[in-house]
Amino acid sequence: MTIYRVRSKLLSICNVISSSSFARFSTSSHIPPLLQRIGFVGLGNMGARMANNLIKAGYDVAVHDVNPNAMKLFSDRGILTKESPFEVTEASDVVITMLPSPKHVRFSSIQVLDVYEGPNGLLQGGKQSRPWLFIDSSTIDPQTSRKVSEAVSDCSMEDKKVSMLDAPVSGGVMAAETATLTFMVGGSEEAYLAAKTLFLSMGKNTVYCGPTGTGSAAKICNNLAMGVSMLGVSEAFVLGQSLGIPADTLTKIINSSSARCWSSDSYNPVPGVMEGVPASRKYDGGFSSKLMAKDLKLAAASAQESGLKCPLTQQAETIFTELCDDGHAMKDFSCVFRHYYSGKDEL
Ligand code: NAD
Repeated sequence: MTIYRVRSKLLSICNVISSSSFARFSTSSHIPPLLQRIGFVGLGNMGARMANNLIKAGYDVAVHDVNPNAMKLFSDRGILTKESPFEVTEASDVVITMLPSPKHVRFSSIQVLDVYEGPNGLLQGGKQSRPWLFIDSSTIDPQTSRKVSEAVSDCSMEDKKVSMLDAPVSGGVMAAETATLTFMVGGSEEAYLAAKTLFLSMGKNTVYCGPTGTGSAAKICNNLAMGVSMLGVSEAFVLGQSLGIPADTLTKIINSSSARCWSSDSYNPVPGVMEGVPASRKYDGGFSSKLMAKDLKLAAASAQESGLKCPLTQQAETIFTELCDDGHAMKDFSCVFRHYYSGKDEL
């Protein structure tokens, strides 16, 4: 083999190695290597499972939650727990947050709950802040995502750029458990590519949506469509029942016709039609009406800010809020069929 051929062979091997391991060892000037240490703040139904999958994947994880019981589940297993978000930053290269709503991420009325900018928050260290990347997987509005991202960028120094990705998830608690979430990601594409391995330790799909805020935008648009389609399907089944069409029969029709959708073929709201869905277990588990009402509120506010007419979003928000006020906040959102429309079980 000539020297030239040996050299080109070596180069091609190097290229394969560098492209396959880009996510862990980026050579970019802006993005430092994604090291082992991952901080995780917000250990609720989703976050605890996502953090577990990172631990299983071999990362060194440090966690924080305001709920001591959530922390104990980790400290009992020897996982590093920290008393504040700021302490998490001291032990992390990348920090992931998974919080209930925008006010927990930014400018809570109760200041200690403001995870990013509050006292003892993630950005408390300012330019001394150690992580190079913050990933917020909470479902929040794009406006808040953009404001937090600006605050994060302000922590950059000449030789160290600090980035932020909004990366909400779709898939629910089961997908969080089995590491099959879908991440929809907004922010710099370079940071997204560098973090992809991390996402794939917690999920099976990642979609790069565009600049900061577009991940959050994608998530609230998805949930808007999901909430409205669940109402449409529930309304159709209730009308069908009152017109004498069993829900089982109507399901077969819809699922082979133009109205087929996730709410009819994978998450049917009528008890007795489908196994393994919340409707088959008294609407326990699943995606709560409270979270659906919150997401519709975020969508309605974004629509208003954009000067758009979104009457279905507003109506859906009103219905799910009423459902919560009537005591069904913690039930799966498909309970709208029973508790708002008074639909009946399939016999
Ligand atoms: P959750 O309420 O179960 O968990 C939130 C956690 O954040 C709690 O453990 C809470 O103690 C903690 N927390 C609140 N304020 C905090 C603070 N200041 N500092 C540290 N920890 C704090 O919520 P979840 O079901 O895990 O959902 C989290 C996010 O994911 C939400 O934005 C939700 O909309 C979204 N989401 C949820 C699902 C689902 O099926 N549950 C699916 C997709 C997306």
